[in-house]
Formats: sequence, structure tokens, C-alpha cells
Amino acid sequence: MSFEQFSFDRRIAAGVKSVGYATPTPIQLKAIPIVLQGRDMLGLAQTGTGKTAAFVLPMLQRLSQGPRGRVRGLVVAPTRELAEQIHQDIVKLGRNTKVRSVTIYGGVSKGPQIAALRRGVEIVVACPGRLLDHADAGAIDLSRVEILVLDEADRMCDMGFLPDIRRIIRQVPKQRQTLFFSATMPKDIRVLANTILSAPETVQIGTTAPVETVSHALYPVPEDRRKELLVAMLQRTSTGRVLVFTRTKHRARSLALHLKKHGRRAAALQGNMSQNQRQQAITGFRKGKIDVLVATDIAARGIDVSQISHVINFDMPNTVDAYTHRIGRTGRAERSGEAFTFAIRGDGMMIRQIEKVLGESLERRRLADFDYGPGFHPEAQFPLRSRNTARRAQSYGSRGRSSRRR
Ligand code: AMP
Repeated sequence: MSFEQFSFDRRIAAGVKSVGYATPTPIQLKAIPIVLQGRDMLGLAQTGTGKTAAFVLPMLQRLSQGPRGRVRGLVVAPTRELAEQIHQDIVKLGRNTKVRSVTIYGGVSKGPQIAALRRGVEIVVACPGRLLDHADAGAIDLSRVEILVLDEADRMCDMGFLPDIRRIIRQVPKQRQTLFFSATMPKDIRVLANTILSAPETVQIGTTAPVETVSHALYPVPEDRRKELLVAMLQRTSTGRVLVFTRTKHRARSLALHLKKHGRRAAALQGNMSQNQRQQAITGFRKGKIDVLVATDIAARGIDVSQISHVINFDMPNTVDAYTHRIGRTGRAERSGEAFTFAIRGDGMMIRQIEKVLGESLERRRLADFDYGPGFHPEAQFPLRSRNTARRAQSYGSRGRSSRRR
């Protein structure tokens, strides 16, 4: 299987070659032919599957022909980081096509965005709020949009963007191609999809379970020993780039400082940082100047750093979806990764829910020779349910990798 089967324009084929993609990922295999035919599509896939190129490549194919200097492609994404990432993919894959793309998001000044729109672009990659600001001010004309992409629609709804999305839809032509991507399909998302897609083809990659190349393990720990456990774990595990998740911005900041004090090249990534500071942290991480990035869920959306070796949930995620999204950061595009989740008292319910979605138990582990404090026995916490007793014998390995999924 190669990209040749799609018969892309040679300028686009050259773009694919220049980024080094040799084989299409499963979602690309399924989605690209549908999008090339001009059909609407509902893509049930999470980040890490190669879904960006699955819509960017056929979009470039279409827009590299026809009129220039008007907005013909609109991609709407929940966060600036994701918008930036999609834009970078468009630039890289479309470098020979002369198709121009611009990002539109809040938190930075409007001037350069307006200037870029005036110079003329064919693709706009935007977060909903700022896009509507420009539309209301007459700085952007969405009446010629031919392809509309909604990326991570579930996350946009979680973030309260649903009314904004409805307003955006009203501004684009009814006659258009719409591509709708979501990792999960709760009811409100399904309703939204039904109203804006026309006879869509559904493409589903996996279920809502995390990417299959990731192995998962649970580390029971007393709440006040988590920082020490993290430091010890980083010292003893051979890790590459590590993404640590915390629930709050404050904790992301203080934990990054704590890790720095212990000699790690760490940085925080959280919503109170300026766009510049965030970009610096992400770039440092991507380039390998930072090994450990401590992030909140929202700030981490859209980070695309291939070769993240470990995701560590310092705080248990609030929802199974959040778990899925976090874990999607590692094992991207079929590389393998490990996901460690620290579990403290009270996390039992969430563990059960995650295991239900995974369809199997998370391996329980303890870090050998780590001082968990008096009276704490990791193996006594969160016992596996009885039907899993056969697996129990394998658990509580203090070393070694957890078993691969399937
Ligand atoms: P995405 O799900 O779009 O965020 O993509 C996840 C990662 O996979 C990104 O780092 C892409 O650059 C990479 N990727 C996408 N398509 C391919 C491919 N066909 N071969 C190798 N890597 C890919």
C-alpha cells in the first residue's frame, strides 16, 4: 500500500515524500478516497491515527486547482495548538502547491491575521471564537467555502463552542463538502453531525478505546508521595520524551519546578502561560531540549510531538474520554508508547470505567524499592476483579513492560 494509489497531483505527492510518509495509515486508506470524491465524511478517530493528513491531502488536491485568493477551505479546531499543528501540516504537505493557509485564534493580536487575510489565502485554520470576531468585523468572507472541516468536534463541544459552531455553519454555503472528526460520539455530537452532514460516509478507526500500540499500567500511591514517585520513576525508567498530565494549571507549574529542582529538563504547559511561552515549551519539547512536559488537558490538546515515549497521568483524568485523549499523545501513528497512571484513594470508580472501555484490566504495578511510606501496600489497593484472577499473577511486576494490548 502506498500513497501512489490515490493518484495525487505530483506537487502533492512530492509533499508527501518530503515529510517521509511511506505508507498510508488505516484512516488515510479509508478516508482519502471518500474525500477525493467530494463526499461528506464522519471520521471517528482520535489524534495519533494520522487523521490530519487524511483530510489535508485531499483538500490540497482540490484547492490546488481553481480560483486563488479566496477562502475555499475552512478547518475549525478547538485549540490554538491544534490549529497551529494542522496549519503546519498544510504548509509541509502543500509546500509545492502555492496554496496558502493562515491560522486564526485568540490570545494574539488580530493585526497580522487581518493582514494575511487581506493578502489572500485559500485555507483558514481557526478556533471558533476569533474566527467569529473576524467574521463579525467583516475581515473574513466565508461565503465561498467549499470544504469545511470540524476537527475534534467532541472537544469543541466540551469546551462550550457548540453555539459558535452553529453560527459558523450559518455563514458558510449550504453547498459544500463537510468533514467531521470526533474521537467520541456522545448524543449532542451525533445531533450536530446529523444536521450538518449530507449523506456522509462513516469512517471509524478503532473504537473510543485508546490507540492500540500503547501499553497501560496503574501505579497505586499515597497522594502525598506522588511527586517522589514521579522523580524516582523518571530516574529509573528509560524514557524518551515524557508528557505528564495534571488536573490543574497550578499543579502543572509547581510540578515542573519540582522536576527541574531534581535535575530534569522539564517545562510546564498550561493555560495561564502566554501563547509565546506555550509555543516555546512545545518547540523545546519537540526539539529535545525539554524531556518532560507537564501539561493540563486543555493546554495539551493538539501537541503533536512524535516519539513521545511515556504519558504519565500524575492526576487521574476526570473522564474516560480525557484518558483516551491523553493516551493518544503517545503511540502516535502506530509507534509504541507506555501510559502510566498514578492512582490515589478515591480513584477506583474512574479506574473501573477506563477498564470497561479498554476491555481489559490495567496492569497494577509498583516501583521496586520505592518508599511508599508506612503501612501502604500498593498491591492491596484497587484489587483486580475476581474474573481477572488469572491475570493477577502477572501483575505487580516491579519491572518489565506491561503486556501489549491484543
Ligand atoms: P495525527 O493523528 O494527524 O495527529 O497524526 C499523528 C502523527 O502521525 C503525526 O506526527 C503525523 O506527522 C504522523 N503521520 C501521519 N500520517 C503518517 C503516515 N502515513 N506515515 C507516518 N507518519 C504519519
